Amino acid sequence: MHPVIFENITHRYDGINVIKNFNLKIEEYLITVIIGKSGSGKSTLLQMINGLVKPSEGNMYVFGKKLDYARILDVRLNIGYSVQGTSLFPHMTAYENIALPGKIAGKSKDEIEKRIEQLMDMVELPKEFKTKYPYQLSGGEQQRVGICRAILLNPGIFLLDEAFGALDPDVKNEIHEKILKLQQIGPRTIIVVTHDMREAIRLGDRIVMLERGELQQYGTKGDILNNPANEFVKRFVSL
Ligand code: ADP
Ligand code: MG
Repeated sequence: MHPVIFENITHRYDGINVIKNFNLKIEEYLITVIIGKSGSGKSTLLQMINGLVKPSEGNMYVFGKKLDYARILDVRLNIGYSVQGTSLFPHMTAYENIALPGKIAGKSKDEIEKRIEQLMDMVELPKEFKTKYPYQLSGGEQQRVGICRAILLNPGIFLLDEAFGALDPDVKNEIHEKILKLQQIGPRTIIVVTHDMREAIRLGDRIVMLERGELQQYGTKGDILNNPANEFVKRFVSL
């Protein structure tokens, strides 16, 4: 099963095409990285998966079904979404922030607690951090809390949009490791948007190269690095 299918997707903002006849089937249980320059349409594509953007033309299939925009909230419950600077609620502790989606979904306290222990352990947030407020945490720690919150309910798909953009390279590397580890306990299907080729190589089982809203190449890192489909990809990977 392909958890996400983009079928002949074209999208316009104010009459200008920003995604052009885009077709792609996302593989289950892999990390897919969508990479391209700023303005190439990456975020627009990602937001089509959770229905924040409805394509002007074409069809979206998520979890095997055509997206039903009238019931989009049900679909979104099963999609984790983390964007750069994902803001934690400042008046809530790390624990309360992470627990929030569980409370909204009506999960039991015990169940929430178990999952939070597991997640904080995986991303190496010490137990003492549970009672800290966001302002008492570093950027990297806040980002990890945000990730735990986004995946508390173990969504079928986890979307990350330039989520690590603001972090130091060292912290970024550390978080990449955590993402790879987290994938083993779920969510197992992850889609990452970035403009950073190193991040793409580090995380991507599959890489989607985008330029001006058009798919340039889809393949493994080996495909992209060793068999670039065109001059654009060749230049991009050599930067
Ligand atoms: P990326 O994430 O790759 O930087 P985006 O998907 O955000 O690209 O944007 C693609 C293009 O669409 C850009 O030219 C951007 O300015 C434009 N765009 C994005 N969102 C909107 C919007 N809500 N209204 C109008 N134009 C938009
Ligand atoms: Mg973007």
